[in-house]
Amino acid sequence: MKKRVMIVGSGFRGFCDALHLMKNPDLEIHIVDSAPFFGGVMHSLDINGFSVDKGVHIFDSIPVSLAETVTEIMDGKVHEIDFVSASAFNNKVTEGFSLPDLNSLDDTAIKKQIREELLALARNPATDAPATLEALFDQRYGKTAGRIFCDIFRKVYGISADEVEPTAIAQTSMGRLKFLDDPDMLDLKKDPFLDTVLAARRKAVGKVDDFVSIYPSDGDAMRGWCKRAVTWLESKGVRISLGTKISKITERADTVEVETDKGTFEVETLIWSNDSLRALGSALNIERDVDGLQYGTPMLFATLFTQADKVRDFTYLQNFDPDQLTYRSAASGRFSHQVREDGVSFVTCECPADVNGTYWNDTDKLAADVWDEIRSLGVVEKDAELAGFDVKRIPVSFKLARLGYAAAFRDFHTDVASRHKRVILRDVVPFFRRDIYLDSAHLTNLVA
Ligand SMILES: Cc1cc2nc3c(=O)[nH]c(=O)nc-3n(C[C@H](O)[C@H](O)[C@H](O)COP(=O)(O)OP(=O)(O)OC[C@H]3O[C@@H](n4cnc5c(N)ncnc54)[C@H](O)[C@@H]3O)c2cc1C
Repeated sequence: MKKRVMIVGSGFRGFCDALHLMKNPDLEIHIVDSAPFFGGVMHSLDINGFSVDKGVHIFDSIPVSLAETVTEIMDGKVHEIDFVSASAFNNKVTEGFSLPDLNSLDDTAIKKQIREELLALARNPATDAPATLEALFDQRYGKTAGRIFCDIFRKVYGISADEVEPTAIAQTSMGRLKFLDDPDMLDLKKDPFLDTVLAARRKAVGKVDDFVSIYPSDGDAMRGWCKRAVTWLESKGVRISLGTKISKITERADTVEVETDKGTFEVETLIWSNDSLRALGSALNIERDVDGLQYGTPMLFATLFTQADKVRDFTYLQNFDPDQLTYRSAASGRFSHQVREDGVSFVTCECPADVNGTYWNDTDKLAADVWDEIRSLGVVEKDAELAGFDVKRIPVSFKLARLGYAAAFRDFHTDVASRHKRVILRDVVPFFRRDIYLDSAHLTNLVA
């Protein structure tokens, strides 16, 4: 008899878990999700007849083996994304660079100060583990650049860097510092320590790794992939139950009993493939509030409609200017091949915002101000006309670990692992799709 495995969560993590486990013909796989749709955050919204991703979602820098599977699921309807990125800081745009570029600062004394602090760090790198993200910025970039990075971090995520775990850096585009011209940065990077913390744009270096970046080309954005993934997985024998809420998980001698609003299932192994530890704790009767130690960044998500030929041919621009409204603006309509017959397409803008702040309560004003901002940043041409907009209030976008989260997660994980050998909760929570895919590969050892 086959071993039954339940995967809880149909986001990319649940998908990758199923993908790796499917290779074992002795397993019967069942994906369960409380949401009525497949794909978690990758399931695009329907806005004015367009399929609009919730933020920028690309199969970026993924291994060739995963790209082949995505291509098979999409019946070949994918195209390679050639990243054309830019970043903005101090009202200046740096082409071909998606991290903050402090070279945009006008003050040369500050740059000199940053340089001196970095050289001092290179001579004497910090050895103690940083307690906060603020401390980590200081250890990597020095006090002056560290302070500026803290301001940028607060602008993008709405929380102070001294309130979050240093591991939060892995979710940001702040893992490297550039503060001079490229030749000067390359010169500094000759130092082994500085090479690990500094960034420079290198011209025409060619392909630097074996990863590829692809995106669905069937005009239905990531939602198209989500729908096709369901059909593909089911054709391979994977059972999928959406809109199914788990209330109780009980481990018996040889099985796990899973009570849901759609009936009770019995499986040999259950894999928790989502980040709701509150739901897992409640189903297992473990009283520990780990989720409360996460901070959810509120965002206003603006979709702005305009003529496709007025949108710059690029992928996205990340705006690190603490005084401006937008964070990431993307030519999502163009790269998802969605242009209406009248030539209208769309741009999306993720705008960090205060819940109940001015813009939260006046989304018309937000759309008007964001439109002005992205025109001045060159995301759309100066004479582009706004043909309509949609603004969604997203109370929780990126989730960041507040101080104490790592320890609370460890304790929760220990509780689960010590009491339940058939319930698998992994101790690593990767963020990017490539890392999720690579991490899921280890499951095959856990579900032997
Ligand atoms: C705005 C944004 C943009 C991003 N862009 C990129 C990018 O371009 N490239 C990249 O590599 N990464 C990107 N990421 C990161 C990456 O998308 C995510 O880490 C990944 O898609 C998350 O997959 P997941 O399965 O862990 O979570 P989710 O997509 O959140 O899926 C979790 C699923 O579990 C379900 N679930 C939750 N609780 C329960 C429960 N109790 N019972 C049953 N089901 C439950 C949910 O309904 C959901 O379907 C982005 C993340 C965000 C937030």
